[in-house]
Amino acid sequence: MKNSTGTDRTITAKWRPATQAVRAGTWRSEQGETSEALFLTSGYTYDSAETVAARFAGEATGMQYSRFQNPTVAMLEERIAAMEGAEACKVQASGMAAMTSALLCMLSAGDHVVMGRAAFGSCRWIMNNVLNRFGITHTAIDGRDNDAWERAIQPNTKVFFFETPANPTMDIVDMEHVAKLAQAHGITTIVDNAFATSVLQRPLEFGIDIVAYSATKLMDGQGRVLAGAICGSDAWINGVLSPFQRNTGPICSPFNAWVVLKGLETLDLRAHRQSENALKVGAFVEGRVAQVLHPGLPSFAQHNLAAKQMDAFGPIFSFVVDGGREKAFAVLNALELIDISNNIGDSKSLACHPASTTHNNMGPEGRAEMGIGEGMIRLNVGLEDPQDLIEDLDRAFAKAGL
Ligand SMILES: *Cc1c(COP(=O)(O)O)cnc(C)c1O
Repeated sequence: MKNSTGTDRTITAKWRPATQAVRAGTWRSEQGETSEALFLTSGYTYDSAETVAARFAGEATGMQYSRFQNPTVAMLEERIAAMEGAEACKVQASGMAAMTSALLCMLSAGDHVVMGRAAFGSCRWIMNNVLNRFGITHTAIDGRDNDAWERAIQPNTKVFFFETPANPTMDIVDMEHVAKLAQAHGITTIVDNAFATSVLQRPLEFGIDIVAYSATKLMDGQGRVLAGAICGSDAWINGVLSPFQRNTGPICSPFNAWVVLKGLETLDLRAHRQSENALKVGAFVEGRVAQVLHPGLPSFAQHNLAAKQMDAFGPIFSFVVDGGREKAFAVLNALELIDISNNIGDSKSLACHPASTTHNNMGPEGRAEMGIGEGMIRLNVGLEDPQDLIEDLDRAFAKAGL
């Protein structure tokens, strides 16, 4: 059932996600170790020349080189695929390696992409500075507007690409609607699911084709390593992405894969507890500032859609203070417990000012279009006692004169 050549997926597929998070993709070596082994090796040896020839000919399975496969990396891929309910998964060196590979492995000169404009800054950078150089155009739309997706379709549109919830305004995209529209036009849908993970939201259940991740965020969850992941059909992952990835090399280090494997064992616990904490902190902040953007609060315009798509609302939300950058900085500088940091998904609570950090390079006009003002602060709520977080914010608001 569990040995060094992989696990019996007919058994692991039957398990519920919390079980898969701890058990799926555990390959045991002949030593019978309990914890997943860390295979820090770049190459492999073979008992005969025929064995390696058969592997290179694709006639036998087995390791060849760690740019192609590695047992620790393969364990992580199996575990993420099981949790996602996907046929297959490949992991990458970072979230951006995942996004870049997912796009580049299937787009050609002359193709067109429709992108939800509330996208991670580097995803927008790829569209504007990489894909455009190869004759791949895109249209950035307000992903919340169902009709905007249809209006943006061109005869050469190949991909719909979006995040939901999206950074930092927490925009929600109606996945069922967008997936149906894409299917009717032969368009591939890619969702960046980093803010939620499969524990909170499973895009494939809404008809999405490909789910891409920064595993750096909630999956590791403890701010240790960078990693990325892409899930999809067996035919697409193994037929389209895998040859691209093994030849271009954006692969995940076995060490980082091992850290994420261990992170996944507690993902269900962390994602739900951090979501609970974020709701408590969000409810407190709502009474104190001009505006709160938290999909879990009834005041959020797309609360019902978020509730339909998500099991819980995640650790991240944003809020807006009156007084622009000066007041936002005053709040950040007055925090004693919550760290100023632009990372998210960490078990430590982190706060950042998107306009001067994560969304600095898009300029004032780009930010205005996305609704990112100078008074906005994004909060990642961690595993601390939420009462301590509330007291920290309360004190910081008071010190900033709010
Ligand atoms: C962080 C992040 C990325 C990029 O991931 P890295 O692991 O930092 O490369 C992409 N998309 C979203 C939504 C993110 O939060």
